[in-house]
This record gives sequence, structure tokens and C-alpha cells, in this order.
Amino acid sequence: MENQGKTCPSAKFTKGALLIGIRNEADEIDLLKDPIKITEDVYQKFTQAKTKPEKTLRLANKCIESGCNQWTGKKCGVIDNLLNTVEEKYVKDQLPECGIRSTCRWYSQTGAEACKVCTLVTTFKEDPKEDKFFSGRDTW
Ligand code: SF4
Repeated sequence: MENQGKTCPSAKFTKGALLIGIRNEADEIDLLKDPIKITEDVYQKFTQAKTKPEKTLRLANKCIESGCNQWTGKKCGVIDNLLNTVEEKYVKDQLPECGIRSTCRWYSQTGAEACKVCTLVTTFKEDPKEDKFFSGRDTW
């Protein structure tokens, strides 16, 4: 599959990444209608904190395909794993508002089904076993 400018919706916290969501008290992600670019100032503040930003923030950035350990050779494995494992009761009926849908890697692979489980994904957890769903990245 060609990259064609696809966007990873569960990216690392880096300068220039887009903030697309924030974890709420229910341990799900509230997606932002309008993504916010991570500026130098914001980056510095978060990197001084003791906690990894990816525990509470969802970020988007360019999909790097084979440069990522979640790339299966032809596509991103994260969304397929999630769709295969998430229990039906957690799947949303509605698509959340989202500012990156037009280029989202997961949406391009599985369409609306991806969006119905997207808000369950936390990019990083200290212990992936804590995560009843699938953390976007468990090998940092
Ligand atoms: S999977 Fe859907 S809701 Fe999630 S980031 Fe992609 S387009 Fe947005």
C-alpha cells in the first residue's frame, strides 16, 4: 500500500505532531475537532514532566510505514488487532468528530469501523496488560 500522505492517529509526542485527543476520566479519548500543533514551548513543558505524554494525549503525525514496528508489510497492524479483539459492547454507534479523517491511516484501511473503536486507544501504557484494549505502541 502506498503512503499517499497518510496520517498515523497514534503517534509519538514530538515537535510538530498534531494533538488530536485527550484521555478522559472514563479512560477513553475525547477527540478534538480541530487538531493542535505541538509547538516548541508545549514540547518542552511536557518533556520536563515525569509522565509520558502519550499516556494521556493522542497525537497524529505522518505514517512512516516500514519505519514503524506496527507496520505489517502492507498496512498498519494496530487497527486490525483492535478490531479483532475489542468486545462489541465497547464499539461506538456513531463516528466521533475528527480533524484528520481525510488522511487517517486507520480510516483508509477499514473505514468507519476504525472510527467506532478509535476513542478506546491509548497510545502508551506502562504495562500493556493494564489496557483492556490495544495500546497503539507497547514496545517503546
Ligand atoms: S480512526 Fe477515525 S476517528 Fe480515529 S483518527 Fe482515524 S479518522 Fe479519526
